[in-house]
Amino acid sequence: MGACGPGAAHSERAESVGLVRSATWPGEVGLANLVEIFWSAQGEGPHLGRSTVFVRFGECDLRCAWCDSPQTWRPANHCRIEEAPGSGRFHETLNPVTATTVAAALDALAPRAGSFLSLTGGEPLLQPDAVVEIAALGRERGLRVSLETHGLGAPALSRVIDAVDVVSMDWKLPSDVKAADPDAQPAEAFAERHQAFLACAHAGAEVYVKVVVTPNTAQVELDDVCRRVARTAPDVPLILQPVTPAGRVRERSDAKVLLAHLRRCEKKLADVRLIPQTHTIYGAL
Ligand code: SF4
Repeated sequence: MGACGPGAAHSERAESVGLVRSATWPGEVGLANLVEIFWSAQGEGPHLGRSTVFVRFGECDLRCAWCDSPQTWRPANHCRIEEAPGSGRFHETLNPVTATTVAAALDALAPRAGSFLSLTGGEPLLQPDAVVEIAALGRERGLRVSLETHGLGAPALSRVIDAVDVVSMDWKLPSDVKAADPDAQPAEAFAERHQAFLACAHAGAEVYVKVVVTPNTAQVELDDVCRRVARTAPDVPLILQPVTPAGRVRERSDAKVLLAHLRRCEKKLADVRLIPQTHTIYGAL
């Protein structure tokens, strides 16, 4: 993934049915640059299988080699919105999307209180004010708000942490990830930012750390992640997510290697889980 939420690119049921104008109040200004809003089952992590409305934000400041949603890398012109849960029928609206439009989409798609609202991307924390407002719309409807993020923007997280219930943070490995801006900080420098982010998330919400494991992943990289998580928040679950072969990703990791990673990480952390993406198995969004 999309380390950042299930990828629309794999949908077999998605179809768009044209551009409609957003619902707005007179004078209402746009709230967020969004790529899509849809309902599905969560396809990753410890809340796997839970009924979830996904709000996918536009723009990302990283370039992960295995990203399954490159359509989110830049701000989107239009946002597509599913019309009924699981229907695969979408209409499109111009960006920025208004709060009224997001609220109407949640009313149409959220199945019941207690379900999840996933704020995913792209990188949602590039738009922290919109994260807070959309999270509030979800909570008003009884939804549990999950933030799926690359886990590097601690200052932005501190602005939104009270608005979210679960933080799904990626831990990016230098072997597979670089910044979108070639002049930005190199990926080797991400580890300390991840630690600061984890400390902030752990203080304010349920949090888990997710690492996408590829055939290139070196055990020493995972050792470093385990050491840093153990030092910062040792009770937090570490999810090892095998990369899903799709798009530019051709190879999957060998099962024996994955299981060896699990055993070695378990020596350093109490809660380590090997969980692949599942939505791609049955062709869901
Ligand atoms: S952080 Fe950005 S580039 Fe990496 S998987 Fe998520 S959306 Fe793609």
